[in-house]
Amino acid sequence: MADATAHLDGNCLAGPLSEILAVEPTTAWWRRPECARSGPLAELHVYGPEPGLTACCPGCTYIALRLVRDGGYVWLTVGG
Ligand SMILES: [Zn+2]
Repeated sequence: MADATAHLDGNCLAGPLSEILAVEPTTAWWRRPECARSGPLAELHVYGPEPGLTACCPGCTYIALRLVRDGGYVWLTVGG
């Protein structure tokens, strides 16, 4: 069944994030003050892969983080 809002789950961020953060990313918890929602990284809705992975809050679709690969660099932006 086709899903117009198809997205990946937050687990796809685990690889790239683990290169940056010294924690197991899928067990990290995020919290968006805008909607007071929180949960494990895996619950984020992730869109990508180009121009980078964008992870949105499943509650309000606010961008929680953005991860862009550029050559040998990984750019991580937290928040919109
Ligand atoms: Zn939210």
